[in-house]
Amino acid sequence: MTKYVYTFGNGAAEGKADMKNLLGGKGANLAEMNLIGVPVPPGFTITTEVCTVYNQKGRDAAISLIKSVVENSVSYIENLTGTKFGDKDNPCLVSVRSGARVSMPGMMDTVLNLGLNDLAVQGIAKKSGNPRFAWDSYRRFVQMYGDVVLGMKPDNKEDIDPFEAIIEELKEQKGITFDTEFTPEDLKHLVVQFKAAVLRKTGQSFPDDPWEQLWGAVYAVFDSWMTPRAIYYRKLNGYPEDWGTAVNVQSMVFGNMGPTSATGVAFSRNAGTGEDIFNGEYLINAQGEDVVAGTRTPQEITLEGSKRWAVLAGISENDRAKNYPSLEETMPDLYLQLNDVQQKLENHYTDMQDIEFTIQEGRLWMLQTRSGKRTGAAMVKIAVDMLEQGMIDEKTAMARIDANKLDELLHPIFDTEALKSTSVLAKGLPASPGAATGQVVFFADEASKFEKSILVRIETSPEDLEGMNLAQGILTARGGMTSHAAVVARGMGKCCVSGAGSVKIDYKARKMNMDGKIFSEGDWISLNGSTGEVYEGKVQTMNPGVTGDFGKIMDLADKFTRMTVRTNADTPNDARIAREFGAQGIGLCRTEHMFFEGERIKAMREMILSSDNAGREKALAKLLPYQRSDFEGIFEAMEGFGVTVRLLDPPLHEFVPHQQATQKELAKEMGISIDMVKNKISELEEFNPMLGHRGCRLGITYPEITAMQARAIIEAALNLKAKGIDARPEIMVPLVGTVAELKNQADIIRATAEKVFKEKGDSIDYLLGTMIEIPRAALTADHIAAEADFFSFGTNDLTQMTLGYSRDDAGKFLPDYLAKGILKQDPFQILDQSGVGQLVEMAFKKGRTVKPKLKVGICGEHGGEPSSIEFCDKVGLNYVSCSPFRVPIARVAAAQANIKHSK
Ligand code: PEP
Ligand code: MG
Repeated sequence: MTKYVYTFGNGAAEGKADMKNLLGGKGANLAEMNLIGVPVPPGFTITTEVCTVYNQKGRDAAISLIKSVVENSVSYIENLTGTKFGDKDNPCLVSVRSGARVSMPGMMDTVLNLGLNDLAVQGIAKKSGNPRFAWDSYRRFVQMYGDVVLGMKPDNKEDIDPFEAIIEELKEQKGITFDTEFTPEDLKHLVVQFKAAVLRKTGQSFPDDPWEQLWGAVYAVFDSWMTPRAIYYRKLNGYPEDWGTAVNVQSMVFGNMGPTSATGVAFSRNAGTGEDIFNGEYLINAQGEDVVAGTRTPQEITLEGSKRWAVLAGISENDRAKNYPSLEETMPDLYLQLNDVQQKLENHYTDMQDIEFTIQEGRLWMLQTRSGKRTGAAMVKIAVDMLEQGMIDEKTAMARIDANKLDELLHPIFDTEALKSTSVLAKGLPASPGAATGQVVFFADEASKFEKSILVRIETSPEDLEGMNLAQGILTARGGMTSHAAVVARGMGKCCVSGAGSVKIDYKARKMNMDGKIFSEGDWISLNGSTGEVYEGKVQTMNPGVTGDFGKIMDLADKFTRMTVRTNADTPNDARIAREFGAQGIGLCRTEHMFFEGERIKAMREMILSSDNAGREKALAKLLPYQRSDFEGIFEAMEGFGVTVRLLDPPLHEFVPHQQATQKELAKEMGISIDMVKNKISELEEFNPMLGHRGCRLGITYPEITAMQARAIIEAALNLKAKGIDARPEIMVPLVGTVAELKNQADIIRATAEKVFKEKGDSIDYLLGTMIEIPRAALTADHIAAEADFFSFGTNDLTQMTLGYSRDDAGKFLPDYLAKGILKQDPFQILDQSGVGQLVEMAFKKGRTVKPKLKVGICGEHGGEPSSIEFCDKVGLNYVSCSPFRVPIARVAAAQANIKHSK
């Protein structure tokens, strides 16, 4: 028979730590703490499976499974505590708390002091000899139960909590500040008032029967799994709905029994910095919620922590010692016990622990332990420290790194204190992490107008590149995670928030509207590229301080990895940054970006607008030296590593001017009429440019473009060779769908290379390969491999074409698909392994059957995303390639994947 309820207490437990899926994190660890001899009040856990039945089959179905076993389990608590549930003289009081398999802080509900009623409160008062404590517990119970179970919430979001309003009124009447100043009579009065408020608002009396109270609380915990905030939190973190939450019912221990009682929360190491120092906060004569509620100033647990806190708070040592002493000072014996327990728990779990405790009349009880949430910096430091302290082995240290969190170590971040005093004006996609503050400009060519600017655009285009580079950050109203702005910004390591739909931009007026507020050019705003938030004004930033531990983790990653990590870089500077982050080569150098700077765009436009071969050749001759010197710079920066240069890819329409003045200027330069320029530009317009005249199709129509680029690459490599620099070019043909296309381009490239070798009287090794980004290329990869030295999966286009979702328009419907569960993840961010992944795997296998040593990598955005990297490792790819600032993330993800797959 399935077991739905697990008891724990007095050093015994039916569950244990590795049963988190069934018992939730809290339940599993409460059981485990019993097993290792840590004092925990007795109780029981209702499993997550019951929650799933509750959600799928309804309340009655779920309760019929557990009714009698819950009743027995309450007797179990009664026996261990010598109390009786519902008894008027010696009542058993319990807490009812949620607990999913992963911690979802603040997302779900808790009820404390359950089992109290008008009779039991007197029993407690008598038994404890402390009426104030009894009535304080009762008023807390009515307040919490009213809020969590009976829905006593404020009517409007501007209103304060209805119970708090009653408390405030009484405090005012009595002229007191703190809850602790209430007399038992005051507390009694509050209970009466609270109950009256419940009756007024819900039309129902507050339940007196403890069993009715208990079941109400259990339902409320189950219900809290489906609240909008819990649903949102799960979506954000990718946790599935069918996990459900467990319910923990546990005998109460009281931190509010007077001066020898206390409650607190603590961390075995610093969750912000990772420093190996026990820390936390506590309050004397309080219950758990007081520590976090902010009504009283919590005190530090350790003396060291207390002293540090006083310095930050500007409080003198005298004042500190008198008014805010540490637990180490107020209850030295209990402090020592607590310190032992935290050490024991950390050693047992071999991870930083986040614990909750209560001291009841001089006796210590643990209420929770779990692996503590931490910043990226703390994550790295704790993993390295624990490895060096011999607590964990190298593979475990690797596993402790959440690769995505390393991002925090790579970009400037907002000062957390400064953020507290600003409000969020708009929210978009966290397209490229980092923190940026600057003055608004609406046009890329005006980015240098201010020393620090934020480029605000409806969307960006390749023309905006220079302005994007000059700006501190980029905000776009449209576009997704693979929109131009997002891809380019990530490449630059520049903060970007994309697709912030609520930002209304009026280019003409040079104004935008955010949350009803008008911002003009020159106004200050701040962007948080890690959360997608937009703030008003200047928000202070701070350097995240990359420490030596970060380097140690990277070295460890290299020890365990099989795949290499390359970077997508278009400039020598990007290449250098990526190399510093440990990139071993360039997996994608997009050459189109090289055509925009300064004079180059003019020659490019001349080439595009030429009506004959001769005109094109002339313009290309002007472009050749630019390209060659760009390649020299990039090859040199990546000396000794392969550099994959992709031939021109985007539709030519993206390069031509769309403004009359620029068109006029161009016509003059080329000696043709403005009408001819306009005609040519309109000829280039396409209904669906992403499926139009782009990629290798350009090189097939205009072989001279391919020849010029091939020449620039080979000449650059030979020039470096002459200087003793080891350049390793790899020429890549984009958007191939048939082998004949590749062959056509390969012939031109090889012929050009041979020509250059002859001219220079020297030669160099180079590779010639193709992107696999059209489904047909994947399907016929065996044929294509015959002509290719390497494949690089362009999973941006491959995703677009396999799913049939336009990369540039998917932002219009993807949010609905995600909200309705039609898609679990954005396939442009996280590789669609079961669909697009099949094509990747098939192409890999087909390619390798023809050429067993075929080099295969990925250069789409997925090359920097951990779960997609894991997939690439499983398939057997040689490398992944990603933007420079994701290189460390990819290195860790590649190592973790290999550890997993080589088990
Ligand atoms: C791709 O399609 O995955 C790719 C890397 O090329 P681009 O994003 O430039 O189209
Ligand atoms: Mg592509």
